[in-house]
Formats: sequence, C-alpha cells, structure tokens
Amino acid sequence: MNPTLEIFSQGEEIVTGHTVDTNAAWLSQQAVALGFTVTRHTAVGDKLDDLVVLLKEISLRADCCICTGGLGPTSDDLTATAVAEAFGLVLEFDVVAFAHIQQFFMTRNRLMPESNRKQAMLPKGAERLDNEWGTAPGFAVHYQRCWFVFLPGVPSEMRAIFLEKVRPTLATRFTLRPSTLVSIKTFGIGESDIQQRIGGIAIPAQVQLGFRASLNEVQTKLLFPPNYPGAEMRLLVAEFADILGDVVFAVDGLGEVTGDLAFTVDQLMQAGKHTLAVVETASQGLLAGLCVGSAWLLETRYECSLARLAQKLALAISADDLLEAAKAVALATRHGSGADFVLVQLYAGDFPALLDKGKLIDLQTVLLAGGRCYQAKRSIAGLPQRKQNQAALLALDLLRRYLQGSVSDAHLC
Ligand code: ATP
Ligand code: MG
Repeated sequence: MNPTLEIFSQGEEIVTGHTVDTNAAWLSQQAVALGFTVTRHTAVGDKLDDLVVLLKEISLRADCCICTGGLGPTSDDLTATAVAEAFGLVLEFDVVAFAHIQQFFMTRNRLMPESNRKQAMLPKGAERLDNEWGTAPGFAVHYQRCWFVFLPGVPSEMRAIFLEKVRPTLATRFTLRPSTLVSIKTFGIGESDIQQRIGGIAIPAQVQLGFRASLNEVQTKLLFPPNYPGAEMRLLVAEFADILGDVVFAVDGLGEVTGDLAFTVDQLMQAGKHTLAVVETASQGLLAGLCVGSAWLLETRYECSLARLAQKLALAISADDLLEAAKAVALATRHGSGADFVLVQLYAGDFPALLDKGKLIDLQTVLLAGGRCYQAKRSIAGLPQRKQNQAALLALDLLRRYLQGSVSDAHLC
C-alpha cells in the first residue's frame, strides 16, 4: 500500500474562486510521481475554527499532508495559529526565522514592517523550512498519524521550498514505490479515433489506460505499477506509438524531456541548426508567437487576408487555387529571407468570414524544405480563437512531421 497524502489549500480567495488552486494541482503531480496515493484536496477560507477541525481530521486519516497559504504577516493568515490550537502546541518566537525575514528586507533596502515579526512565530517543536525566496518560512510537524508540511501560498516560493527542502526528505520518511506514467502525445487525431486504433492491443490488467484531450494535443496515458519490468514497458509503449503512427510527436515518461508541439519543433530546429521564415494569415501572429524566443526564426509576416498579402508581395494570386497561392508566397519569401525553410499559412475567404463562428474556412499550409514543397489542408469552423489556434498548430505540425521524418508522399506538392 502506498502512503496516503492530502493537500490542503488555505485562503478565502481560493474558496471564492478568485485564485485558481494551482498549488494543489502541482503538488498532486509531484506526490503521485513520488509514489503517494493522493486521497483528497481541500480548500478552507480564513476561518480559524474550520482550519482547526480540518487539521485534526487529517491527522487521523492521512500519512502526509501538504498545506499551502496563510503564512503571511496579515490578520487573515491563520495557519500557524490553527496548527498550535489543533495540535495543542504553543507558538514560539524563532530567532533564526526572524533573522531571515530581517535579512530579506535588508537586502532589498526596505524597512521591515512590524507585522512581519508574526511570521517568525512557529509552533513549538516544528521543523523550520527556511524560505530563501520570500519572507514566510514554512514548517513541518508530526501529529498523530500524519506528517504535516506547511508552505507559503505564493506558487514560486511554495515550489522552491518543496523541491529543495521537502522532496529530498520524503523518501527517508516514507516507503515510496513510484508508478511510471507514460504519455503518448499526439496532434491531429481525436480521442475516439485513438481508441479505435488501439482497440486491438492487449493491455495487461495491471496497466491503466487513460486519455487527456485539450485543444492543442491528445495524450494517451499508460500508468505502470511499481517495479513493472522496463523492457516490457518499452515494448507496450512502442506498440502504441507504432499503431498511432505519424500523429505522435512526443513520448513523455521514459526519461526524455518533452513538452508541447512547439517545444518539440524548437528542439528539432535547434538540433538540425535550421532556420525558418513564417508567413501567416488565419493564425494571426500565433504561429510566430509559438516560435518566440527561438533564434532559428529569422522572419515573420502577418497579413489578415490573402488579398492583402497579394497586394503587399505584388503577387497575382487568388483563393481559387489556395495551394498555388501558398506556393507562390513561399517562393517569394524564400528569396528574401535567406531561411532554410519557409512555412506559409493561408485561408480562403475574407477577414469577416474568419471571425464568424458560423462559417467554415479552408486552411492551407505549405512548407518549403530540403528542396521540396509539402502541404496540408483542413477546413475549420468555430470561434475565431479556435480557427487561429488550429491554423497555427496545423502549420507547426507540418514542420514537425518534416523534421521527424514522418511527412508522407501525401503531403508532397
Ligand atoms: P504571503 O506572505 O504572500 O501572505 P501566504 O503563505 O500567506 O504568503 P497567501 O497569502 O495565502 O500566502 O497567498 C499569497 C498569494 O499566493 C495569493 O495572493 C495568491 O496569489 C497565491 N496563492 C495562494 N494560494 C494559492 C494556491 N493554492 N494556488 C495558487 N496560488 C496561490
Ligand atoms: Mg498571506
């Protein structure tokens, strides 16, 4: 049995929905990866009695609890007081914590408000978790069955203290046998199509299959239990990747660092020392935006319609033959840009049609690379943001396919 872990977020802003509880999501992912069974997430407002009751309940039912928020200097920051009351501890002035808080203000050339003194009051016997990234120190304390860790609410401080001070000690306190989660990331295929394609694969009973779909990718997830043989794991993952084929752009969880489609393209462009010029219309700057911060992006151009693009480039092109138009734009761009690759993203119709959620528009992407021309097309309806997003991703995916060598003859033009 894995040890159980609960996450507890404190703050009125969390329960009222003004702040989205990203701390709980992040901590959950960390805890699951480490081998805990996460049993519950709770959020409580700034109410001392509720906090005290909850802390007592958790102390009886969980092996570990991580609590975030409520460690600040203001009157609504009640965590330390609640811990003292729930566990029958007194609050003690911690000289080292106070010195750290003073230091924090001194190095920023700011006067420390008297209220920050409160942050140095810690429950007697608690282990202090120094906060080198802010003022509120965290602390840890054992009560009844549970080891409680209290961290500041500010996500960057919470993450830093967890990674540096908490995570390394968990393996010594608990017997952790982590499962392995492998995510096969795809673009250009829906969940139901994936389900159909993988229908014939024999999945061992102890392996859990799941899906996570978003606008930008669909992940097919395989959760392997602790100590599942590595070679068998790799074989099963390879079987999935083979059946899914060229829609797979990354496999996460087998040791390689992966990200989204833009991350994959960035890695491949850097590795191949390629350069790119982009011309886009329906994607309205998003395609270039997905490549931002990449030295390999040499040139970008956005025009709101094909007509405007034709005028600016002085090209006699029309939407009657969108593919020919895209090729002409790509060639004209290659001459001037000096980039190895040119990616052109066009749509048929005028700008009002692009913004009209009831209108279907035809998208056309062309890629000039390695002395050849590749193309992909798709019709898309929906909100303008959806059209913009899909146009950008479809174009980026054509480049990804080329870079991964999975572009097929069907893409040649
Ligand atoms: P501070 O010293 O800043 O007061 P604190 O430990 O008291 O630290 P809170 O006051 O609860 O933390 O939260 C500080 C800020 O951190 C909040 O305004 C919010 O922006 C962010 N925050 C708090 N809790 C969460 C959470 N669970 N998820 C995401 N962000 C959070
Ligand atoms: Mg606060």
